[in-house]
Amino acid sequence: MTLLCQNNKQMTDKITDTISDNHIDTLISCDWIIPVTADDPVLEGHVIAVHHGKIIDILPAADAMQTYTATHLHDLHHHALIPGFINAHTHSAMSLFRGMSDDLALMEWLNNHIWPAEAKWLSEDFVADGSRLAIAEMIKGGTTCFNDMYFYPDVTARIACEAGIRATVGLIVFDFPSAWGEGPDDYFQKGLAVHDEYLNHPLIQTALAPHAPYTVSDAPLSRVRLLADELDIPVHIHLHETNDEIQGSLRDHGERPMARLQRLGLLNPQLIAVHMTQLTDEEIALAAGSGIHVAHSPQSNLKLASGFCPVGKLQRAGVNVCIGTDGAASNNDLDMLDEMRTAATLAKAVDNNARTLPAAAALRAATINGAKALGIDDVTGSLEVGKSADMVAIDLDSLRTQPVHHPLSQVVYAASNSQVSDVWVSGKQLLSNRRLLTLDENAILENSREWLQKIQD
Ligand SMILES: [Zn+2]
Repeated sequence: MTLLCQNNKQMTDKITDTISDNHIDTLISCDWIIPVTADDPVLEGHVIAVHHGKIIDILPAADAMQTYTATHLHDLHHHALIPGFINAHTHSAMSLFRGMSDDLALMEWLNNHIWPAEAKWLSEDFVADGSRLAIAEMIKGGTTCFNDMYFYPDVTARIACEAGIRATVGLIVFDFPSAWGEGPDDYFQKGLAVHDEYLNHPLIQTALAPHAPYTVSDAPLSRVRLLADELDIPVHIHLHETNDEIQGSLRDHGERPMARLQRLGLLNPQLIAVHMTQLTDEEIALAAGSGIHVAHSPQSNLKLASGFCPVGKLQRAGVNVCIGTDGAASNNDLDMLDEMRTAATLAKAVDNNARTLPAAAALRAATINGAKALGIDDVTGSLEVGKSADMVAIDLDSLRTQPVHHPLSQVVYAASNSQVSDVWVSGKQLLSNRRLLTLDENAILENSREWLQKIQD
């Protein structure tokens, strides 16, 4: 258990050299620290030391008290400390459409409900208020980073900054116009301005986000590839979500969507392919060979009856699979604990194998795998010396998580988001004893009720 500390000793020595009298910002003591590192250790009776937003040490509690003094001391008895969840696919602002149109298949839901509602309501205010609602929900559920795809990414980025959460905002591309852009050229131009505005920002990065193969034609998709190369940022797209999408692509392009993206040069390690419920064995091999990442959104796939992502087969082939909630309009929440549990249990049923996606692998999919997909695994996704202090404390002293035979198992298979007590991003505390510190929960609730009135009138 001290191996982690020894491995990181050199870096710790280097960092602590710069700390006068070893007085640091924060020390957090938890019953269990689950760092999500190689071999999936669970550290008992350890303390995590944070200074200037970074993890500088993870060491036994007795040693910590002799080594450090801290401005903020947290003694979280009965808690497990894990890396913050990385929600690898969502549409934050759509939280204002939560529950508006349920129990429909994807294309009927989009064509007859979501797109008409967006045509009517999409605005800067809608995106600001919807993003704030989503981010508050995500922080309270232990998410410290989210990968967003929606209109007005500049607004979502601004609200994320205000809240102190880490985000990758998608520079959305559609063939058709919206309140945010007139068409592909305008989407690219506005997206590039957002990219420039947040270049080298500590919390916000950008991705190119062509919505889906059925809403973006070849020319803008080719431009996405060129820009992704030039800017060295991820590409975030819905792909192989439903059988309808496959049939439509065969009809309109004479090829399946993955083949089309391959032809356009988009199948490479920058691609985050969301959903992937319709895959042949050849396409699974192609996904592995090309190094693309798969963002798995099981609850959205289940609710829209889209199909089943073959997580077991993808992982055995070597594909990096991460987890996202999708938007609250198709889930209907942004609860990563719940999504992770659905992913872990559904993967077993789909693979007909109870050993598929075990608890530790599910936790990796919900944390470090998302960081890998976003190209920020050197910054976040696990609790390691030198990484950003993006951390979540979960109180396991609850009826539904007792007795704690195995804390990692309790986190994955039993804990609820109401047990998330404390959240930090880059060392800054965003949730303290279940209370939001950077957002006004009552004001957000009141604002959401006002939107309901407007949308229903
Ligand atoms: Zn989506």
